[in-house]
Amino acid sequence: MNNVANLPEKRGKRVVIIGAGFAGLKLARSLSEKHFQVVLLDKNNYHQFQPLFYQVATSGLEPSSISFPIRKILQHKKHVHFRVAELQKVRWEEKTIETSIGEMGYDYLVLALGANTNFFGNQNIERHAISMKSVSEALLLRNRILENYERALNTSHGMEQESLMNVVITGGGPTGVELAGAIAEMRQYVLPKDYPQLDFSKMTITLLEGSGRLLNGMSDHSGNNALKYLGGLNVKVRLNCLVEDYDGKEVKLKGGERILSNTLIWAAGVRANGIAGFPDNSMGFGGRYKVDSFSRVEFNNDVFVIGDQSIMITEDRPNGDPQVAQVAIQQAIRLNKNLTRLQQGKELDTFEYDDKGSMATVGRNLAVCDLPYMKMKGFLAWLLWLFVHLMSILGAKNKVFVFINWAWSYVTYDQSLRLLIKPVEKKKYDN
Ligand SMILES: Cc1cc2nc3c(=O)[nH]c(=O)nc-3n(C[C@H](O)[C@H](O)[C@H](O)COP(=O)(O)OP(=O)(O)OC[C@H]3O[C@@H](n4cnc5c(N)ncnc54)[C@H](O)[C@@H]3O)c2cc1C
Repeated sequence: MNNVANLPEKRGKRVVIIGAGFAGLKLARSLSEKHFQVVLLDKNNYHQFQPLFYQVATSGLEPSSISFPIRKILQHKKHVHFRVAELQKVRWEEKTIETSIGEMGYDYLVLALGANTNFFGNQNIERHAISMKSVSEALLLRNRILENYERALNTSHGMEQESLMNVVITGGGPTGVELAGAIAEMRQYVLPKDYPQLDFSKMTITLLEGSGRLLNGMSDHSGNNALKYLGGLNVKVRLNCLVEDYDGKEVKLKGGERILSNTLIWAAGVRANGIAGFPDNSMGFGGRYKVDSFSRVEFNNDVFVIGDQSIMITEDRPNGDPQVAQVAIQQAIRLNKNLTRLQQGKELDTFEYDDKGSMATVGRNLAVCDLPYMKMKGFLAWLLWLFVHLMSILGAKNKVFVFINWAWSYVTYDQSLRLLIKPVEKKKYDN
């Protein structure tokens, strides 16, 4: 394999960061020009704001409002060299990585590849269900939902129409709850106006959760309120309910019951992205790579893993920290300081997660928030959710666009982005 071409001569130590998600991008932007040459790789040329994928899927936001060109973000960081490339293997004994564009040496390697959907080995579900771990998948879901209603118009077969209109969501975490609420609002305010020939009183939205409550990472107060809000939006929530199989038309539940639906959305779990070349025993729960309290892997001092891909087990947190954006960002901030301390020959500082709280929105004026000293629900929680998410989006232009979209939808009870846009394959010529 050839070396990656045209990387400038090293000035200072080379830190190679893989993944420009919340963790990798934060670290790349903060590492000092004085001490490091930074090489950032991502398989995409854009950063994605995952918390709002569900709004792209339900026609509330354009993909471009929540995706940001990485080169634009790094325009003023002359010591950060970005390449679109996929990591293939780490040869950590030789301090080298293999990628889709060649191989490259490093002084320090930081892995921040995040996680992907976990289908728990069920290939039928993987083939037919839709997940939401990328903006492309969110668009696929938007197309699937809209296409299904177009098809439903053209069939007089009762069961087929039912299957095309019904939506089943697996996983009662924030993603499942937010999607269920948003689709229920589409059913209430938007779809009957677009498709007056279809009877939306027959459309069911079912949210399936394997445990006995919703929003497991949040308080009982928030879980119970989310359940109440979804009930008010006429979403059927089924707790202690597991999906066994799916053929693209019928969801088969454990126990034999079946639900007709052409749309199964899988939000029931994630698994950390794997790394070829790492020892098998370096992984912990959920495929996450075990790191010490400096985010360093156990078997090598020059390799760090941060964000969703890592698990830092401490006495206080035997299951590690949650896989959320704040953990990823805070780990990047600590690692930035520690890499500088390494250069200065100083001792490293340990990481401790400062939990600022969590929140989920269910719909118009409806949200739940667990803050360190109080819990909130309803309209105030919803306003706080809007504010926090708006402030977290990168770029002033995107903030303005998202705000205008939200204000427009709030006033008109409509989402205006119900476009079925599909990429076309270029025609192939013989010569
Ligand atoms: C639908 C959804 C909703 C969410 N909502 C919330 C929320 O409301 N609040 C919250 O705090 N958290 C939320 N999360 C979780 C949050 O998004 C993650 O915790 C966070 O993105 C983790 O950051 P990360 O940097 O570890 O990984 P990511 O942000 O996932 O970034 C990983 C990067 O690695 C790149 N990559 C992957 N494989 C390769 C490869 N082989 N080679 C090169 N590049 C690669 C990817 O393209 C990506 O850019 C949500 C997640 C999802 C999916």
